[in-house]
Amino acid sequence: MPAFWKEHQLAAEMDTALAAVRQAGLLCREVQAEIDPGALAKDDKSPVTVADFGSQALICRALGEVFPGDPVIGEEDAAVLQEADNAAMLERVVGHVGARVAGSDAQQVCRWIDRGNAKQYSDRFWTLDPIDGTKGFLRGQQYAIALALVVHGRLELAVLGCPNLGTTLAADRGDGTILVAIRGQGTWQMPLIGEAEPVRVSVSTQTDASQIRFCESVEAAHSAHGDSARLAKRLAIAAEPARLDSQAKYAVVARGEAEAYLRLPRDNKYREKIWDHGAGVLCVTEAGGRVTDVPGADLDFTLGYRLENNLGVVVSNGPQHEALLQAMTDLGIGRFDD
Ligand code: AMP
Ligand code: MG
Repeated sequence: MPAFWKEHQLAAEMDTALAAVRQAGLLCREVQAEIDPGALAKDDKSPVTVADFGSQALICRALGEVFPGDPVIGEEDAAVLQEADNAAMLERVVGHVGARVAGSDAQQVCRWIDRGNAKQYSDRFWTLDPIDGTKGFLRGQQYAIALALVVHGRLELAVLGCPNLGTTLAADRGDGTILVAIRGQGTWQMPLIGEAEPVRVSVSTQTDASQIRFCESVEAAHSAHGDSARLAKRLAIAAEPARLDSQAKYAVVARGEAEAYLRLPRDNKYREKIWDHGAGVLCVTEAGGRVTDVPGADLDFTLGYRLENNLGVVVSNGPQHEALLQAMTDLGIGRFDD
């Protein structure tokens, strides 16, 4: 049976995006496998930097070849990499990219990376987080490669690579999975490695608020854990939250392994970045779920690289959404005095 998108008008986009994310995922796994936890100094972030730039180079190169007119709003640019102090780092990036794209040189790799440094909204653009969850990557836990296509402000296509997530959520690392979605066509999953056909996934049908299983960031700096604990108490939720890095949390909700993902703001200054949400949002909504910010508004992808008009993010299976929003309103979560 051919992949579900073969007849779709975005088939070329999906073929290109999927192949690129898969290639980037393999690069990331290769870099991660080289980390020797014993030898890695606690503040040595170089492996994730190498993988981050390598991932962005591969994906932007692939998009640039097939869709040269499409801007990419990505997280990285090559300026730092070109500083004299970082020559060794650049060499490592070129080595990993060159292992996949014969004949790559430093100048080309930097050019590919810089294809991803658009900042402004346009009628058709991609948004890319080459490694979402850098802390998870360094800890050997979850991280994601997140790529989404936005046309006229609407998410149309998503590829969410989760190189350490299994096809089901286990306590330890899995062999890697990729979720893909096209608007109106559902969300589908396949293993990172191999040629298996995609399998459709859908959100949980659970409607009892006390039975909500939710996930949130590992990093307390990214989401107010105290507020989610208050919310859990309010709704009589007994289950402990699953803490995972990256948009793997969206994958977990899309697959029905949790009813919610809460990203609760710690202040009213921080604005979420579009690359931290685009791919995940489409994967969840196409699996039947719902995504808003904490006040209940839709996420607005028309304002450049930040979600300027949104505060925090609430992801659910759908039926539980109103209960979550109401409980947050009742508790004053997301309301700040300054
Ligand atoms: P997570 O792995 O879900 O904790 O999210 C990782 C992402 O959090 C990174 O890609 C950052 O862009 C983003 N981030 C950084 N600072 C903050 C913050 N203060 N609040 C929310 N997200 C943040
Ligand atoms: Mg990120």
